[in-house]
Amino acid sequence: MNIIFLGAPGAGKGTQAEVVAKAKNIPAISTGNIIREALANGTDMGKKAKSYMDAGQLVPDEVVIGIIKDRLAEPDCANGFILDGFPRTIPQAEALDAMGVVIDKVIEIDVSDEDIVKRMSGRRVCRKCGVTYHIDYKKPLVEGKCDTCGNELSIRPDDAPETVLDRLTVYHELTKPLRGYYAEQGKLITIEGQDKVADTTALTLKAVE
Ligand code: ADP
Ligand code: ZN
Repeated sequence: MNIIFLGAPGAGKGTQAEVVAKAKNIPAISTGNIIREALANGTDMGKKAKSYMDAGQLVPDEVVIGIIKDRLAEPDCANGFILDGFPRTIPQAEALDAMGVVIDKVIEIDVSDEDIVKRMSGRRVCRKCGVTYHIDYKKPLVEGKCDTCGNELSIRPDDAPETVLDRLTVYHELTKPLRGYYAEQGKLITIEGQDKVADTTALTLKAVE
């Protein structure tokens, strides 16, 4: 099954994408993580993407489309995959269609703007292994430390309060039109983001049965 996770930044689509990936034994592909990795490795693409990312803007379509094209060609995508954070614009969705990629379901995690701001301000990440936590909703076992590797947790530069509002504006203008795009194709399933991650997960797993 090929699944897209749609939603505002910080809506929790990454967490849900990981759960479904495990349940179905298919890869979850996060363009955000791929870009951050490229950045950590000091590649040209990473350096180019950094200024957009830190400012809360989208990385240009041709860059992310190139990333996805390469990634979907990897053998582990043959039995299905989950896209987390791609597409984020109509041209990106059209590029997927043009590649001949058939999407089965588009799961939208719907969270109000007010809640998004709360969620992002509490988000913490492990720079080493990319795992995301939240100071209220997804606490690490030891405060400020990664469960997996023990690394010190940090705040992502694009989670700074001023940037969060810019990212929400970008979401409304460029990403939200994708709901209509996929609703028209009969693929959109909207899930209300719940306060407890486990409750959202239960809804998600039902949606991808
Ligand atoms: P979130 O979902 O919380 O916004 P991501 O890790 O998915 O976090 O994305 C972080 C940033 O990476 C975005 O704000 C954007 O700059 C860049 N990015 C990720 N995916 C895309 C995409 N499909 N198109 C353009 N930019 C992207
Ligand atoms: Zn870690």
